Amino acid sequence: MAYLNENYLKLKAGYLFPEIGRRVAAFTSAHPEAASRLIRCGIGDVTEALPAAARDAMHAAIDELGDRTTFKGYGPEQGYDFLRVAIAENMFQARGLDVAADEIFVSDGSKCDTGNILDIFGQGNRLGIPDPVYPVYVDTNVMAGNTGDADSTGAYEGIHYLPCTEANGFMPDVPSSEEAPLDLIYLCSPNNPTGAAATREKLQAWVDYARQHGAVILFDAAYEAFITDPAIPKSIYEIPGARECAIEFRSFSKHGGFTGVRCAFTVVPKTLLGSTRDGRKMPLHPLWSRRMTTKFNGASYIVQKGAAALFSEAGKSEVNALIAHYLGNAAVLREAAQDAGLTSFGGVNAPYIWVKTPNNLGSWEFFDVMLHKLNVVVTPGAGFGAAGEGFFRISAFNSRANVIEVGRRLREEL
Ligand SMILES: *Cc1c(COP(=O)(O)O)cnc(C)c1O
Repeated sequence: MAYLNENYLKLKAGYLFPEIGRRVAAFTSAHPEAASRLIRCGIGDVTEALPAAARDAMHAAIDELGDRTTFKGYGPEQGYDFLRVAIAENMFQARGLDVAADEIFVSDGSKCDTGNILDIFGQGNRLGIPDPVYPVYVDTNVMAGNTGDADSTGAYEGIHYLPCTEANGFMPDVPSSEEAPLDLIYLCSPNNPTGAAATREKLQAWVDYARQHGAVILFDAAYEAFITDPAIPKSIYEIPGARECAIEFRSFSKHGGFTGVRCAFTVVPKTLLGSTRDGRKMPLHPLWSRRMTTKFNGASYIVQKGAAALFSEAGKSEVNALIAHYLGNAAVLREAAQDAGLTSFGGVNAPYIWVKTPNNLGSWEFFDVMLHKLNVVVTPGAGFGAAGEGFFRISAFNSRANVIEVGRRLREEL
């Protein structure tokens, strides 16, 4: 008999997007006339074409592989130097940040990296996870056996939820000194789903907390490219002391429209230490390097060439245009939400607008109003955690025409 990993049985089986799909399908089959009017502002996926600089580089890379004199087989598991150096120079060193190319590990996605990182941490860490947040952090800890069962509200035993509320600007505050210290802390800034971005002061408080307690911060900066406010840090390494306590995840998915191409990276500073049970402090960098060389054979050469091209002059201006497009959409949506009398947050340093449901409706109740009355699909906040109840997320990943039409419906049809 092969025994299965019973931790998977604790998971609340992928409730959010399947349930949205079920409700949309039920609505369109009951109202086929409304199907063509339906606009999806639900899923956090990019919509605009891949930058030409990346396409050209990938075409050229394919041609290299088509000639045996320039053919390439397996590459370095940590990523090709041309990409690691381009990332270190353009995203960190050019901004005065101390991150070296060999501290960068290229992968096929931040979703995988944020889950796989648990391979290098032991059992029994006290986990701090924001609520609401990208569901991957909770679910991968459940799968790894780091939690107990979920209670009736969906909260897992063994996770210390860090509420993101209007009062704290939707970015968690460090726990009070009476609470047992956290060991592993997830932060996502700019945040999915709330669109909030952490201030320097807040990140400094977390870095100080982590250093005081020997904790590690897992910092997901997937939406870093959307930060417009120069006072908001794009990297945790802008905070003094972060090299001693933080791992940063970045992705080309939202940055360069690479959700379908697949390329991301993780920064593990060589100065970051973890602790053995008997109290010896050891660097985490060799563990992640070993994890990548053992369980991963590197991201595709073609894809890495495409990602590196995003740092060319042409690539940078195309990335800027993509980001400007989505942030322009976000501005249209924010204004429309305001005109419709809704209270909204985010959408300035992030492609998500976080909107309070009117009249104290539940997230799913308002989802149904948006679907049935406006024929617009949004994402119920409760799907990202209990503290998301009473909110919904509108994604700015769309065409401008769709976004303008959603804005019109919010003003005229709500
Ligand atoms: C989209 C997203 C990512 C990126 O995941 P990839 O696997 O690189 O596409 C990471 N974190 C968050 C919070 C995201 O929303």
